[in-house]
Amino acid sequence: MFINGEREAYFLCLFFYPCYWEGIKKSFRQKIYLRGQGRFLNVFKLILVQKVTILGGGESGAGAAILAKSKGFDVFLSDKGLLHQKYSDILNSKNIPFEQGQHSEERILESGLVIKSPGIPDTVPLIVALKEKGIPVISEIEFASRYTDAKLIAITGSNGKTTTTLLTYHLLKTAGLNVGLAGNIGDSFAWAVAEKRFDYYVLEISSFQLDNIIDFHPYISILLNITPDHLDRYGYDFQNYVESKFNIIRNQTAGDYFIYYKESEVINSELEKRKPVVGKVEVSLEQELGSGSYLENGQLISKINGSAFQQAFNELPIKGPHNAINALSAISVAQLLGIGAETISEGLKSFTNAPHRLEQVEVIDDVTYINDSKATNVDSVFYALGSFNQPVILIAGGVDKGNDYSQIEELVRSKVKGLIVLGKDPEKLEGYFSGKVPQIYATEDVQDAVDKGREWGVPGDIVLLSPACASFDLFKNYEDRGDQFKAAVRNLIS
Ligand code: ADP
Repeated sequence: MFINGEREAYFLCLFFYPCYWEGIKKSFRQKIYLRGQGRFLNVFKLILVQKVTILGGGESGAGAAILAKSKGFDVFLSDKGLLHQKYSDILNSKNIPFEQGQHSEERILESGLVIKSPGIPDTVPLIVALKEKGIPVISEIEFASRYTDAKLIAITGSNGKTTTTLLTYHLLKTAGLNVGLAGNIGDSFAWAVAEKRFDYYVLEISSFQLDNIIDFHPYISILLNITPDHLDRYGYDFQNYVESKFNIIRNQTAGDYFIYYKESEVINSELEKRKPVVGKVEVSLEQELGSGSYLENGQLISKINGSAFQQAFNELPIKGPHNAINALSAISVAQLLGIGAETISEGLKSFTNAPHRLEQVEVIDDVTYINDSKATNVDSVFYALGSFNQPVILIAGGVDKGNDYSQIEELVRSKVKGLIVLGKDPEKLEGYFSGKVPQIYATEDVQDAVDKGREWGVPGDIVLLSPACASFDLFKNYEDRGDQFKAAVRNLIS
């Protein structure tokens, strides 16, 4: 019950506790909750905010519920959909009440604090009602970060988060550090905080998670890039999305580090405006840096805090210019943490990336089939196309998130010999590229798409699934799309 033994705070809170029920007004409640910093106020919050509701019962929701319960809150979890068996079982086993298939609004509006799944937009009526009532709505990473003293390494960007998070984690693990991996990837951060003890966490952080932070404070943050994505969640205003991404440095101070991609105009102009005090570490593909990390003549070079590192990029299992940015960012973290050059080099060479990211599936009759199903926006297709020098048959399409294809037009014109549009709504892609590529074919069937790729392909070509779109018109998710693509390619052999 006591956090770090702050007994005095607890008794003080008990004294004030009855006032709460007599109607401490929303401004007071918010003031305590939103502005509160430090252990004393955390205990104060714990007492004032007895009832915690978790909205969304996936990995992060279940984790938040487990952590909240372990901290003595009166927890209730509510999910409008159906919970996965794994999560309902764990909630039952921990005696955490929950509902599914509905939100009991009246009960939820009684909460002192709401922890919201990143999947729920701020604009849904329930969230609007909570905010109108002055009930704080925070994200799971915000909540979890209040209960750990571990050093946080938080990684965000429109693209490259997972690759960079996995690689950073792998480098820290290779160095023997006691490190956890959580966030948008793998296990819930809150769940890990409730049940494990790590000295470091490497966290993949999405913009939706950054939308609802208050005190979340990484020691090292990485911002890989910011390109239009998820604009439907940001009122179709790119600046709103940029603000969300920049929340990653919101609480960083001079003793912290911010690693970012120097050639991103958006990032640079924001830094110019904000002038943050955090220690900056630049990553460049174009420029030699006196301090920072850069690519020069195929060498990954990093010079940080007086130590230097160098490694040939082609010795790494990940390829393409985007992966050089990701690798340089991860190397920068390792150097900031004082990991030696040999260990970094060993980690870089032994890294295995997650599937569905420029994953080679098969080479059939000298045609290479690549699964890049995770490329769900235009920028990632830009980098995917930039990774090949051979002619490409591009399979793209799905649910368009407000895409602007002009960014890849030149690359498509120069590299793509055939475009196969895979999706329920092919018109936008077909319309944009009609007359700009030699041949276009539209289908809703993944096997048909792969068969067409085989028909068009000649030795030396690449058949690349890199959709630029979300997957849920035809598939459960991007993994399902990638798996079906791989199965369809392997059917060509059998
Ligand atoms: P995220 O987790 O941000 O979606 P991933 O590492 O899963 O990022 O990669 C998703 C897609 O984005 C991949 O298909 C890859 O081609 C592309 N990508 C990876 N890193 C970068 C980067 N630094 N810049 C642009 N695109 C990238």
